[in-house]
Amino acid sequence: MKVHIDAELCTGHGRCAKYAPNVFRLSDEDGYNADRGATIEVPAGEEKNAAMGIKSCPERAITVVEE
Ligand code: SF4
Repeated sequence: MKVHIDAELCTGHGRCAKYAPNVFRLSDEDGYNADRGATIEVPAGEEKNAAMGIKSCPERAITVVEE
């Protein structure tokens, strides 16, 4: 499962990392998703947490990439 974090939409609420700390990392500098603008692989077994993190994002900045 791959997810894309939109660079424009992410405004640093940090909720994604709260629900899925093993999937989403926040930048130490600004609190935005550290992988914004990138597509990342969700580690095996983290799909449920990732889904909660995606749902929790108020900006709808994270989308599942169809493979
Ligand atoms: S919850 Fe959404 S807006 Fe907030 S840091 Fe994560 S991706 Fe960005």
